[in-house]
Amino acid sequence: EAKRAGGARRQVFEAAMRERAERRAGIEAELRQAIVEEQLFVVYQPVVGLNADGGTDHAAGVEALVRWRHPVRGIVPPVDFITVAEECGLIGAVGDFVLERSCRDFLGWRARLGERAPRLIAVNLSRAQLGQPGWIDTVRRILLATGMPPGALQLEVTESLAAQDQDIQARLHELKALGVKLALDDFGTGYSSLSSLHLLPVDTVKIDRSFVSQSDTSAHHRVLIEATVKVAQSLGMTTVAEGIETGPQADVVRALCCTKGQGYLFSRPLPPSDLLAWLEGHEESLPA
Ligand code: C2E
Ligand code: MG
Ligand code: MG
Ligand code: MG
Repeated sequence: EAKRAGGARRQVFEAAMRERAERRAGIEAELRQAIVEEQLFVVYQPVVGLNADGGTDHAAGVEALVRWRHPVRGIVPPVDFITVAEECGLIGAVGDFVLERSCRDFLGWRARLGERAPRLIAVNLSRAQLGQPGWIDTVRRILLATGMPPGALQLEVTESLAAQDQDIQARLHELKALGVKLALDDFGTGYSSLSSLHLLPVDTVKIDRSFVSQSDTSAHHRVLIEATVKVAQSLGMTTVAEGIETGPQADVVRALCCTKGQGYLFSRPLPPSDLLAWLEGHEESLPA
C-alpha cells in the first residue's frame, strides 16, 4: 500500500519535472527568437538624491531594467527569463544588448538635456555574465563604441554573488580598473555582513526593498538600515534605498542619512520617452 502510494508520488513528481523541463525548453527557444527579432527592450527607473534639507534631486541617476515583449504573453518581467537565459547560455546576448542600449540612451539624454540629464546609469549584471571569459573586453568595447564615459556607468551585482566568490571579486577589480562604478544590489538579503563590506571594491550599497518597506513600521529594520548607512559611509560608499513606496518611508531613510532613493513613490520604470518627460517635468526642483 505504502509502496503504491510512493510510486504514485514519484509519477506525479516525474510528470512535474518533465513539464518543467518542457516549459524551460519552450522559453529557451522563444528567447532565442526574441533576441533575433528584437523583442527585448529596456525601461528606466529614476534614482533620486535625497537631500538633507528635504529636497529631492531628480537627476541623480537611472537604473536600466530589461523587459521582453512576448508576441503572445505580453510584457514578461526579468524574473521570468533571466535565470533561463543564464542556464542556456543566452545571458551574454541579453546582457550585451542591455548594456549597449543603456549607454546609447544615456548619451541621448545627455545630448538633449545637458546638465539636467541623469548623472549615472545603472545596469544589472548576473553571475554567468561575470564568469564569461572575455566579457571584460566586451564591456571595454561597448564603452569605446558608444563613447560612454566609464565613470557614469554603474554596474550592479547582488550581494550574495559578490560576497562569496573569489573569482567574482577578481572580476570586480578588473571592472573597477576600467573606471566604471560598482554597486552591491539587494544588500541585506545575502550572506555577507557589514564586517566584510570593506573587502569589496564597490562604490554604492543598495539597501534591499524588504528593509525599506518596513522602515516606517519596524524599529528593528530602522536599526539595520542605520547601521548599513553608517558602515558604508565610513568606507566612502554611497547608499541607495530601494523600493520606496511611501512618503513616510522616504522620510525615514532620509533621516537615517541614506542619500539616494528609488521606488514607485518617485517613479515606476519608464520607457525612454516617458523618462525624458519625467526629467523635464522636474526641472524646477533641480539644484542650481
Ligand atoms: P533590482 O536590480 O533590485 O531592481 C529593482 C526591482 O524592483 C525592479 O524590478 C523594479 O521594477 C522593482 N521596484 C522598483 N521600485 C519598486 C517599488 O517601489 N516597489 C516594488 N514593489 N518594486 C519596485 P524588475 O524590473 O522586475 O527587476 C527585477 C530584478 O531583475 C532586478 O532587481 C535585477 O536583479 C534583475 N534584472 C533586471 N534587469 C536586468 C538585466 O538587464 N540583467 C540582469 N542580469 N538582471 C536584470
Ligand atoms: Mg539593480
Ligand atoms: Mg535591487
Ligand atoms: Mg531588488
